[in-house]
Amino acid sequence: MLAVAAFATGVGPRPAGAAWDVLYDVVLYHVAWLAAGTACWLTARRAPREALAWRALATTLVAGAAGNVARIIETGQAGTTPAPVADTCVAVAYASLYVALFVLIRARVPRFLPSMWLDGVVGVLGTTAVGTGFLLGPYLTAGGHVSVAQLAWPGADVLLLSLLVGVSAILGVHLDRTLLCVGGAVALFCVADATLFVLSAEGRYADGGPLELLWQAGILLAALAARSTTGDPQPRDGQEGVRITWRLVALPLAGTLAALAVLAAGYGDDLPDSAGWLAVGCVLAALTRTAVTFREVRFFAVVRQEARTDELTGLPNRRALLERARVVVAGATTGSPAALLLLDLDGFKEVNDSLGHGAGDQLLCQVGPRLEPALRPGEVLARLGGDEFAVLLPDVDLDAAAERAGIVHDLLRQPFEVDGIRLHVGVSIGVSTAPVPADDVQELLRCADVAMYAAKTERTGVHVYVPDPNSGSGERLRTMEELRTALVADQLDVHLQPQVAMDDGRVVGVEALLRWHHPERGLLSPGHVLPAAEQAGLMRPLTDTVLERSLDAVAQWWDEHRVPVSVNLSAANVADIDLPGKVAAKLARRGLPAAALTLELVEDTLMADPERGRSVLGELRRLGVRTSIDDYGTGYSSLAYLRRLPADELKLDRSLTADVDTDERAAAIVRHTVALAHDLGLSLVAEGVEDVATARRLAALGCDVAQGYAVARPMPVEDLLRWLAGERSGLLRSV
Ligand code: C2E
Ligand code: CA
Ligand code: CA
Repeated sequence: MLAVAAFATGVGPRPAGAAWDVLYDVVLYHVAWLAAGTACWLTARRAPREALAWRALATTLVAGAAGNVARIIETGQAGTTPAPVADTCVAVAYASLYVALFVLIRARVPRFLPSMWLDGVVGVLGTTAVGTGFLLGPYLTAGGHVSVAQLAWPGADVLLLSLLVGVSAILGVHLDRTLLCVGGAVALFCVADATLFVLSAEGRYADGGPLELLWQAGILLAALAARSTTGDPQPRDGQEGVRITWRLVALPLAGTLAALAVLAAGYGDDLPDSAGWLAVGCVLAALTRTAVTFREVRFFAVVRQEARTDELTGLPNRRALLERARVVVAGATTGSPAALLLLDLDGFKEVNDSLGHGAGDQLLCQVGPRLEPALRPGEVLARLGGDEFAVLLPDVDLDAAAERAGIVHDLLRQPFEVDGIRLHVGVSIGVSTAPVPADDVQELLRCADVAMYAAKTERTGVHVYVPDPNSGSGERLRTMEELRTALVADQLDVHLQPQVAMDDGRVVGVEALLRWHHPERGLLSPGHVLPAAEQAGLMRPLTDTVLERSLDAVAQWWDEHRVPVSVNLSAANVADIDLPGKVAAKLARRGLPAAALTLELVEDTLMADPERGRSVLGELRRLGVRTSIDDYGTGYSSLAYLRRLPADELKLDRSLTADVDTDERAAAIVRHTVALAHDLGLSLVAEGVEDVATARRLAALGCDVAQGYAVARPMPVEDLLRWLAGERSGLLRSV
């Protein structure tokens, strides 16, 4: 900066014919060049990744200065005689400047595609065509006092600048301070060289004028670039994906237009040949570029398509659905809502396990063709993964969506043919709509998921999401999170409900029922806990806790009352091959016999993996633990199942026992179920016995054991201990 400032003081009009001032024109003028060159050279050490660029730039500056001096020596002031040494130096300067620019740009471009080279060619040819056509053209055709050598340097500047501008604009180069400074320097050289060219062509150039300051300013910028670089250039973010935008064709288009303008303007004969050929070259390069763009875009279209297609079924995948749903949800209004059906096949795992994955895959592939005829234009069926599918219904309200879900449900209930076997799988469908209750895609999916889960657990087939006004829609997610805390923070407990023998009222068991002492919501019953636990995959630790609490309780009374505790198992527990070992250890730790524990399971906990479930239960029974079939009479109770499932007890669901006193058909079912249970060697427990009349009738029908409010409500362990000690209601003694 000092050198430039010092030089600037001497700039001014110079008397015509004044001689060179060696100190000023030669030494002072070049101090800045050499200083900037040194700065660049030193920068190379600081920025190893771009060392080549900085060395090249240093070479440019030093060679440039050398060229200037050589020209003064070779030609004196006249500037007309040839100057081979000077021209060589300047050529070296330009070549190294080109190298410097190239390296700097390359470091800032994330990826170099072939089309990018073509962009560079189009940019260079277009700019030089315009430059030679319009700017230099008049001088070239006038033919007068301009030499090709004089034209070379402004031409080279134009080339460099167009390289920088064209390539940066198209590639999305990260234009940081360094590159901006170098670009600015080249631009200044370019303007200065062009001005020099024009002035000398008109014979008006005089040494030492203000024009010299342009070069000096360029030098200053180069030095600033060297100072500002961090040596760690960052390619621009987000460039990995290819942007298919107008920018891709903007340069070929602009190049073609510019070249055509040159050709049109020079259609007569005043266009220099070189400009004409440059323009033609530019058009050809632009055409090639367009062809390459076409190929690239087509390639990306294929990649895009593949990224949005499910490989197995050929249906749109989750990504495609989300993209489409985003658009649909954004356009949905309360007047014209959109809906999402979330489908999850029932019993698919069974197909996979029993017939193999090939059969499972075949089945999944049939879902699309099965449902496609039921879809209207604009509706999307996608496979989200596994046995989960989704149907996006734009412009459908909740009622219509539920109706459509019913249709889908019925279609999928028709048997599938796989490997010549007819397979029945069901489906559980959750329905939700936007913008109410879900105002974005994630929310829509989540609501549909909650609904699907409800459809699955309640076996209703289709469930429509209705937000619970008391709990807020995020309840289950929040519960899942809080449950993890509850498990480690000792918030889970059991309440115990006695079971008494019908004949003499003696207590024959207690059932442990999960309770959650929630810090804010108070005492929560299993209905609030189990769905979340199941979905969060927390059933095993949860059952561990329940087993611990239950066995702790039994251990307190076992010596006095031989009353076993019943613990409920879920599907995740029955599939846990470690369960028998864990149970044995827990019993042994308390010195309890296996007879102190009964495990209850509902039939369909075995559905997921019947083989493994049976082996786990078999092992538990070998230990001596009793097993009980819970909620018998609900769901798809099948007699064949009873035959194969080893158990000690059948618990008749409340839905069958509640009306026996008034409904003869209900009574008939109970009577025959009792007979069946006894024939199979099972004892029969009637659940949900709420009053004495019902209890009497159940006893008369042959039930062995009663459990229900008529006996006692579930109660905390201490209460049960007191209850066992004799303070019981005695209600059942009268039966
Ligand atoms: P469940 O095994 O059928 O348990 C009996 C349920 O009926 C209990 O509800 C009990 O409070 C209720 N009940 C008892 N007597 C009567 C009556 O006379 N009338 C009526 N209306 N209801 C009565 P709770 O405690 O809400 O448990 C609900 C279900 O949650 C249980 O049904 C069981 O399937 C499940 N569950 C409870 N604890 C656990 C556990 O620790 N693990 C697992 N996996 N499931 C559990
Ligand atoms: Ca139970
Ligand atoms: Ca039950």
